[in-house]
This record gives sequence, C-alpha cells and structure tokens, in this order.
Amino acid sequence: MSFWEFTVDASYFIAAVLFIVGLKRMGSPRTAKSGIKWAGIGMVLATVVTLWHPAMEAGFFRYVLMLLAIGIGGAGAWYTGKKVEMTAMPQMVALYNGMGGGAAAAIALVEMYSGSAFHHGATVLTLAVVGALIGGVSFSGSLIAWAKLEGKMKKTIRLPGQQMINGGVALLTVILGIWIIASSGSAPVLVTIFFLLSLAFGVLLTNPIGGADMPVVISMYNAFTGLAVAFEGFVLGNAAMIIAGTVVGAAGTLLTLLMANGMNRSISNVLFAGFGVDDGAEAEGPEGEMKSVEAFDAAASFAYSDSLIIVPGYGLAVAQAQHKLWEFVQMLQKEHDVDVKFAIHPVAGRMPGHMNVLLAEAGVPYDLIFDLEEINAEFPNADAALVIGANDVVNPAARTDESSPIYGMPILDVDKARECYVVKRGKGTGFSGVQNALFFGDNTRMVFGDAKQVCTDLANGLKQI
Ligand code: NDP
Repeated sequence: MSFWEFTVDASYFIAAVLFIVGLKRMGSPRTAKSGIKWAGIGMVLATVVTLWHPAMEAGFFRYVLMLLAIGIGGAGAWYTGKKVEMTAMPQMVALYNGMGGGAAAAIALVEMYSGSAFHHGATVLTLAVVGALIGGVSFSGSLIAWAKLEGKMKKTIRLPGQQMINGGVALLTVILGIWIIASSGSAPVLVTIFFLLSLAFGVLLTNPIGGADMPVVISMYNAFTGLAVAFEGFVLGNAAMIIAGTVVGAAGTLLTLLMANGMNRSISNVLFAGFGVDDGAEAEGPEGEMKSVEAFDAAASFAYSDSLIIVPGYGLAVAQAQHKLWEFVQMLQKEHDVDVKFAIHPVAGRMPGHMNVLLAEAGVPYDLIFDLEEINAEFPNADAALVIGANDVVNPAARTDESSPIYGMPILDVDKARECYVVKRGKGTGFSGVQNALFFGDNTRMVFGDAKQVCTDLANGLKQI
C-alpha cells in the first residue's frame, strides 16, 4: 500500500468515525447542533481527501469540473439552507435527499456506460444495478414529494389499476436489471431504458400517496438514498461512501419505522392505501357549536390552575410564536406558581423534531418537555391543557372513531384534561383534512386568532390579574 493509499484510507476511517459520533449526538436536542458539526467535518474531510485519491487519475480539466460542481452545489446549499423557513424544511430535506439518490444513480450509470462496472465481476455489477435502481427511484420519488409539499403539485392522481401498473413497471425494471447483469456487457440502450423505468417507478409510487403520509415517504427515500450510496461505494471501492451510506440507510430506516408508528401506519399501508389524498371534498365532521372565549379569560383560568400542559403544533411554527409563548409561560411559573409542562407528539409540525427545535429556539428548558408516552397519563390530572396550533395530533377520533382515516394514530389526550383551550385562527382542519371533535367538546374553549397575537394577549391578560 502506497503512502497516498494509506492516507486516503485512514482519512476515510476518521470521516466514518465522525459521521457515527455526529449521528449519535443528533439523537438528543442538547447535543444535536454539535452532532451536525461533527458529521459536517467528516463530510468535508471525505470530500477533500477524495480529490487526492490516487485512483482518480484525474487531469487538470476534471479537477476544474469537480471544483466547479462543489462550488455550485455548496453555494446553492448554503444559500437555501440559510434562507429556508422552518416550515419548509421537509421539502428541502426531500429535495436534497433526491439529489443524493440521483448522484448515486449517476455514478452507477457512468460505471455502466463506460463498461467499468462490467469488468469487476457479477457482484460489483449487481450492486451497481441495484444501486442505480434504488437511487433512481429515490431521485424521482423525492422530487415528487418535494413538489407536493411545496404546493407545486396540488392534485394527487390515482390511476385506475394503479397497483397493477406499479407492479408491472417494477417487474419490468427488475427483469431488465437481471438482463443487464446476465449479459455482462455494456449495452447503453438497455441501461438507459432500465434507468428511465426506475425513474418512472419512483413517480408512480409517490404520486398517489397523500400529504399526511409524506413524512414517512421522505424518510423512506432517505433510507433508499443511503443504501444506493453504500452500493455505489462498493462499486467504486470507496470506504467513506460505504460507511456513510450504510449509516444513512440505517438511520433512515429507523426514522421511517418511528414515523410510521407515530401515525399508526404500516409501511405498506403508507405506500398503497392512498391515505390523506385530497379529493377536493369538504371535510365532514362532528355536529355542534365551538365555544369561543377571549384570551383574557383563558389567561385567568391558567393563572388560577395548579398545572397546565401545553401542546404545540404546526400553527405555532407558522406564527413563529414560540418566544411569546415562552414569555407567557415564564410569567405563569414565576408570578402564579403554575406547574407548566410541554407535550410533544412525534409527528407534530411538519418534520421530525420540529416542535423540539422551536421550543429549544425559544429557550424552553429540556426538563419541561415530554414525549407522548411520558405525558399522556398526566392529562386526566391536569387542571388545564393549552393546544396551540395543533390539530391532528390531538384529534380524539384517532382513539374513538373507527371510520376515521386517522383511527389508531396515537394522540395526546388533551380532551381528558379538566379544561382544554385551543388556539387557532379559524375552523380549518389540520394536515390530514379530518375535522376534530375536540373543538366541539364540553370542556373545550376556542381562542381564535394567530398564535403569536394570542400569546401576546395571554401575557397582557396575565398582567391585569
Ligand atoms: P395540523 O397540521 O394538524 O394542524 C395545524 C393547525 O394549526 C391547523 O388546524 C391550523 O388551523 C392551525 N394554524 C395554522 N396557522 C396558524 C397560526 N398562524 N396561528 C394559529 N393557528 C394556526 O398540525 P399538527 O402539528 O397537529 O399535526 C401535524 C400533521 O402534519 C400530522 O397530520 C402529521 O402527520 C403531518 N405531518 C407531519 C410531519 C412531521 O414530520 N412532523 C411532516 C409532514 C406532515 P387554522 O387554519 O384554523 O388556524
């Protein structure tokens, strides 16, 4: 082994350790920021070292191309990363993830078009083909997920016999893949058709899936991209790609299962059931009247409570009301001695950990924040619950109404608190489009308004007590 080969391998090993430590640190809100930095340093190291890879035999022109690509990609990612709204984060994750899948598929294509993958034996060729398939599906599927979440694709199209069509395209793609491996010679036309079919399959698979299931789909494609990168790492003999891809694949798979559990949906149900599809129909729901109160009355009720559990949701993020909410909570704690806790549903908001990020931004201490399993038993003993910009994650239909599309999804049991106050702007439904019986409950009071304004009014209300 030459000195350069040793240096490259040792650097890839260090990069892999940095990825794993970074990922471990991302597991807790306290250490997540530093985790991103650790993994980022690992990625910079792996990228820089690759430029010196002895096997690259790259001429000057290729270095210019590579640096140009890194410059354009890096500048674009820096700009969009700085600019993106927290509420648009899932779209951005979908887009970047699609790029990763596309890059892995592109590597496989280059290896197959150049004939290089065919010279390394059946195993490497099989990995290249499987990586191209998974990467292609992840690329086109993620772009559809991005377009749906960004509102560029408003309608969810379900073709008649959709599953048959999907099954047919999948089968044809696999047959072509086997053909490419068996023929063991570069056949550009075959490879091109195979790649186009894998793109088509990603589109067909994602298109019929409704918005409410998109988080699960995006994390599934995340796992796909990781796998595709790992497979192509084998093709190129690149240890950093193998390890990084495997780590992303494993993390994405675990996140997919976690999200699916959070919504009480199996992966096959997510992919094939068409849940959350917007058919343009008005949401039907419980009959009755919502009882509304002014923020001042709600503030008075909280001030005289011993315990209050706050459930934040997507609306809190839209209104960017986290700082005002925390100001109000501190007044309740200091001036009225109220025991305040925050309850977080695993799919509240529009991305995993969305509410944790918001509350951390406002400076809410982690020991006031509880997961669904930790807090649900406390609602019956709480004097009051305050639901702020949340809807689906507190919909009792998930517990009681077998005909509801969200039946079975674990929810935060705010309806069991002695009093429940809900802050939202109007009578709109949540992400799933299902009406919420909670808003019509005897012990529920609605405080209509933008979450930030209501939080300001609540704090002003407290000052008058
Ligand atoms: P929902 O989307 O169910 O409800 C949010 C509510 O907030 C709406 O009913 C809306 O009512 C209200 N709202 C919106 N803007 C404001 C505002 N400025 N001020 C006050 N209220 C506002 O949110 P949840 O957090 O309860 O549930 C998350 C949903 O999103 C779940 O269905 C989940 O499956 C899905 N999802 C989750 C992702 C994740 O990774 N966490 C990703 C993608 C989807 P109104 O219009 O009347 O104000």
